Amino acid sequence: MDTGKSGTILVVEDEKKISDIVELYLKREGFATKVVHTGEDAMRLLNEPFDLIILDLMLPDIQGEELCGTIRETSDAPIIMLTAKSGEEDRIKGLGIGADDYVVKPFSPRELVARVKAQLRRTRKTVKKVLSFNGGFLTMDTENHEVSKDGTPTILTPTEFRILMILAEKPGRVFSRLQLINMVQGYDFEGYDRTIDAHVKNLRQKIEEDQRNPGFVKTVYGIGYKFTGIPDED
Ligand code: CA
Repeated sequence: MDTGKSGTILVVEDEKKISDIVELYLKREGFATKVVHTGEDAMRLLNEPFDLIILDLMLPDIQGEELCGTIRETSDAPIIMLTAKSGEEDRIKGLGIGADDYVVKPFSPRELVARVKAQLRRTRKTVKKVLSFNGGFLTMDTENHEVSKDGTPTILTPTEFRILMILAEKPGRVFSRLQLINMVQGYDFEGYDRTIDAHVKNLRQKIEEDQRNPGFVKTVYGIGYKFTGIPDED
């Protein structure tokens, strides 16, 4: 995929007049763009690693809300919804289904670009090279794939590392087993619910102080897992 210097953005908008102007403004700012006009075409691209997704709420085939939910099953990319509905309820609904921001039509392309940049700044700020938790008890070097427990390096498999990264980047957020399977796929993973459980069990042996009372990867009964380590200050 052709990536712009500022990132790659998927634009899902059925009105060509709008998508053209959005694309023009994004390209001017150094973003690479991919534009599609239907929800179905957007679905086909969801395994590509976009930095941000601009999503029209009113599409001819698939409802924007539904598409947003589907994207969230596999991607953490910020989503900005475009909508003609300006009611408070719709805003809240849009954010509740996983959208990060909301722009009401008619909008100024400049404002949209400013919001795109704000979302990307927020995302990039949270991606640190070394993550450290619980007073340095658990550290993860995200570039070199090195993890240490209480100062001693611990060797994780690529799948274990990936699961830990997904969870630890969003402390407190609950991930379902299905979400984890989808997000880990592409890392040599054959996914079934119980396979995730097996990986988590092995991961806990390597990072937890007490596996029966885990302080980092907690089970959320009936759903999946969440990360409960406490991030250290810089
Ligand atoms: Ca539309």
